[in-house]
Order: sequence, then structure tokens, then C-alpha cells
Amino acid sequence: MPNILNSLRMRAECEGKHISGAERLLETADLGTAAVELIERALNHPRGAAEKIYLQVDPVPARQVATGTLPDLHNHQVGSWQQGRKLAQQLLEAAGISRSAAIKALQTLAAGAAPGGNSMRGAMLIDAASGERLEADQARGVRVSRMDLSCAARDRLLQRLKEHGLNNSHVVEALTLAAKVIAAPGVLAELCWSDDPDYLAGYVASPQLGYRRINHLKPVGEERGGRAFFIDRSQVELGELVSWLEQAPLLIDQIGAVHPPQFCQGER
Ligand code: AMP
Repeated sequence: MPNILNSLRMRAECEGKHISGAERLLETADLGTAAVELIERALNHPRGAAEKIYLQVDPVPARQVATGTLPDLHNHQVGSWQQGRKLAQQLLEAAGISRSAAIKALQTLAAGAAPGGNSMRGAMLIDAASGERLEADQARGVRVSRMDLSCAARDRLLQRLKEHGLNNSHVVEALTLAAKVIAAPGVLAELCWSDDPDYLAGYVASPQLGYRRINHLKPVGEERGGRAFFIDRSQVELGELVSWLEQAPLLIDQIGAVHPPQFCQGER
């Protein structure tokens, strides 16, 4: 690893509304290509073309960068978004989240977790026992940053995902983000579905369950999406957790298994 890596962050807005964002951690030689890719993504986003694009680059000394591993990917196939949300609730409960906190988080994401029923720019923090929301700003939430895959890990992952038809940027970025979230002290689980109206899949991730992709978690055309991180407050101080998620650099150099699809039986 060179002495310095760079945290590259992109955030795009249209008519004052957040439409897309991305986080990378890269060598200086790769910055230009990655910055162009992110600008193109912002200009061609299904939620609308960006009017304002913010790019920020911050140096990160390599000695501060921890290395990590991706969780195993399990691929659950359901017949409807209702069935998908039921499965998400069951997985959250299996990860140690109380039923009421799981249901409340699902309902809040479905209604748009930011004020006015919009999507947040970052994630909710949720008390895993009570379901109480803990993030300081309900529009911004917590934005996980400074994480990426090493080039070799990205190549191996894309190869492995390709065998299952899952080699797209949604899956790669979500797996990378989830790897950092579930490695955080005090985080029991994460729930996510996209705010991209064309992308219906989402996931539940936890240290024990790995990354549980669910192919259908929202109706077609739905722009309300988001993330919820479920916290055991007895294990961690909130300020420390937020600064770890937002600031601690993590480069993932080991990938996990990608399992074949599992078909969910039952009501649609
Ligand atoms: P996406 O998976 O990019 O469609 O994002 C879905 C939702 O996850 C967004 O609406 C945000 O609420 C949230 N989100 C996106 N990126 C991050 C991040 N880096 N950290 C925390 N939450 C995020």
C-alpha cells in the first residue's frame, strides 16, 4: 500500500433534493478515473440528472487504514415486496433486534425516514431493543465513509458475483458498506433498500447472518429508500460509533462466499 490513500466522496442534488452519493478509498493514481465515473453516475441517475455535484477528496495516511473482510452473501428470492419485508423482519429478529424495533424501522423507511416523508442522505440509528431513533439529524443521518475494496478483492468479487448474475455496482457498493457497518462495535444489524426507483432489492446484514440479499423489498417506482443501523447501546457510546462509521478508514482485502439463490415459500 502507498503511504497515502484518498477518501473520495460524491454527493449530488437536484432542486435541493439529494439524489445520489458514493464513497471510495483509493490510491492517487486511480482518483481521476473514479471521479469521472462518479460524475457520470450523478448525471445519469434514475432519480434525475444532478444539478449540483460535490466531490471531496481527503488524504488518509495508510498507517491509519484497517483491513477487513466482506460478509458471505446469501441470495433470498421472494415473490413480492410484502413477502420480502416479512422476511427482512424475521432476519432482523434472528439478528437480535426486538420485533417492535424491526417493525418500526421497516415502517419508517417505507414512509420516508427524513422530515416530509423523503429519503435521508444517510442512515437512521435505531436502538435495537426500544426502536427509538438515535441519530442527531433526521435528514442527514449517519453517512458511512472511508471504505472500499482493494483492487484485487474487487476483481475477485466481480468474478464471483458474475457466476450468480449479481455483478452490478449496487451489490458491490452495498456489500462494501455493510461490511464496515457490521464490523462496527455495538451494531447488531443493518436494514437497507435503495432509493433508486428501478432497483427493488435490499438486504439485512449482521455479523452472524452475513449479508442477506432480498430481491424484492419495495414496489416498482418507489423512491423512498434508506438504511437503518440497529445498535446495542450497552456495548457502545453513540459519539464513538458515529465517528468510527464516518471517519475510520477500512480497506477490504478479503471477500466472502456467494451462495446460490434460496427461494422463499409461502404467501406472496
Ligand atoms: P443507495 O443504496 O445508494 O440507493 O442508498 C439507499 C439509501 O441508503 C439512501 O437513501 C441513504 O438514505 C442511505 N445511504 C446511502 N449511502 C449511505 C452511506 N454512505 N452511509 C449511510 N447511509 C447511506
